[in-house]
Amino acid sequence: MKQMDQIITQLTASDHVLFASHTDPDGDAIGSLLAAGLSMKAMKKRTTLYNESAIPAVYRFLPEVEAIVSHLDGAAPFDTAVVLDCSDLERVGAGALPFIRETPVIINIDHHPTNTGFGDFQLIDSDACATAEIIYRLISRMEIVIDADIATAIYTGIFTDTGSFRFANTNQAAFSICNGMVACGADPYNVAKHVYGTYSLGRIKLLNRALDSIEISDNGRLSLMTLTREMFDATGTHPEDVDGLINYARRIRDIKVAVLIHEYPNGSGDEKRKNGQRRFHVSLRSDGAVDVSRIAALFGGGGHRNAAGFTVHTDITDIKNGMMELANGL
Ligand code: 5GP
Ligand code: MN
Repeated sequence: MKQMDQIITQLTASDHVLFASHTDPDGDAIGSLLAAGLSMKAMKKRTTLYNESAIPAVYRFLPEVEAIVSHLDGAAPFDTAVVLDCSDLERVGAGALPFIRETPVIINIDHHPTNTGFGDFQLIDSDACATAEIIYRLISRMEIVIDADIATAIYTGIFTDTGSFRFANTNQAAFSICNGMVACGADPYNVAKHVYGTYSLGRIKLLNRALDSIEISDNGRLSLMTLTREMFDATGTHPEDVDGLINYARRIRDIKVAVLIHEYPNGSGDEKRKNGQRRFHVSLRSDGAVDVSRIAALFGGGGHRNAAGFTVHTDITDIKNGMMELANGL
């Protein structure tokens, strides 16, 4: 509670607050960002909401989502930077780092057990089902009135990070907070309709390629999906369309660890090829027996026991072989 009260004092004393969440955002990264930002706006504070990546189409229905910016030039200076759902500061992406490092006070709010504890104040709870759960606790203590927009953002963060109340992080708070959010105006049908209801034709075609790419280790315990840049190009999709596809690889009988390797576009800045090598994101999912956050940490990434990830510059054969070798230890 001491940290929370110090954070509240700091936010109350700030005039301009930057909120930022991790690249390749999921529903929790976006829901936490919007819920925190809208709450500060309700306190009549100047806020800047930042995410480096494109917002996946399924989350673009969220209230005020268009307020999220992907560049900070001209927005600084900030009195306080609040970093959400990031286990290390670098997760916000290279574009925001210099601005955040220049900000006098950094607040770290997260639920990853691999959190490095960066920043001046921390609210880290790996028992929280989502960062949105911690944001809910914070804004409740600040006695901010939760309107339908804030409620929808928190509900979406918890609903998606618990895999619709199916994953191991589903706790009592997930239900009690979501129940409260519905009372405040969140519409479960509307959220579910957007998050799971409709996909572009390209994303369905990408799913087809993802399913087709599945390889299983000799011992039958590891499944591997691969999505290359060529597959994104052929289907008119982008890396943000990958969200959720790994669950198909995880659901195969006897699988202990599922891996999804996807390639980043050969774009600008950080995404340029390094020494002719391509840049890949690797997502890992476990059935609970193996702690995949430890595997991700070996490659400079992190996450949760059952869901983790990392990014590498390599070539596709090397990373596929490396991941397949993990099966020997399963
Ligand atoms: P995914 O890889 O499926 O996007 O994410 C799974 C989980 O691992 C999420 O909780 C996410 O925040 C975390 N994660 C994914 N990539 C990285 C990474 O490069 N570094 C760290 N620290 N965590 C990651
Ligand atoms: Mn996240």
